[in-house]
Amino acid sequence: MDQTRHPATVIPVGVSACLLGREVRYDGGHRHEPWVTGLLADRFELVPVCPEVEAGLGIPRESMRLEGATESPRVVVIRTRQDLTATLSGWATGRVTELTGLAGFVFKSRSPSCGVMGVPLHGHGDDPLPRGRGLFAQAFMDRCPLAPVVEDTALVDPVQREQFIQRVVRYHRWLRLPATLHRDEETKRRWAETQEALDSVRQGHLIDGEDLFAWMKTWGSDRESDPPPRP
Ligand code: SF4
Repeated sequence: MDQTRHPATVIPVGVSACLLGREVRYDGGHRHEPWVTGLLADRFELVPVCPEVEAGLGIPRESMRLEGATESPRVVVIRTRQDLTATLSGWATGRVTELTGLAGFVFKSRSPSCGVMGVPLHGHGDDPLPRGRGLFAQAFMDRCPLAPVVEDTALVDPVQREQFIQRVVRYHRWLRLPATLHRDEETKRRWAETQEALDSVRQGHLIDGEDLFAWMKTWGSDRESDPPPRP
């Protein structure tokens, strides 16, 4: 993270780890996209996630594919026919609850875990239908239905890339709205109390200046105290 960024302006965005150049693919390779580690990393705090490695499948691992129906696809190891759906879904359900603060996600396309659309779906005769969604991408979208998501292939287009960035910034503002409103309310309350104290002074009542400063120093802390009592 850029240490000069203020925490309130840090915008966390999830990324399929292989797009960052991490060697997490089934064959030990990666799919580094320079604009992810360049442009996006300059704007956002990127949070790498590799569902298959985090779910414990290891590197290298057997290649898998999506099979079955569009609404309930399964992830199956091509060579052994091992069904990994329960392993990956169980892990994803828990992991996405930790990712609800993300302001968006950049997914690797065509992956049975990360693809958002058009993942080849096998089991419909010889030709797979390009209409599946990866299990982790689906879990994230179910948990965070308003979060902007995109596949790496869409962001090759500079226009779509800029649109995604703007959507992420807007969504992040929306995520922070409750905290912002709360902060505004707190500020209003403090200034109203300060105004009351000043009115009291104007009316000839004296308030101990040290008490006033001691109270003001606690603003925003866990120890925030009540305003000094009017005499
Ligand atoms: S596409 Fe997803 S599951 Fe596959 S290597 Fe990349 S991050 Fe891992």
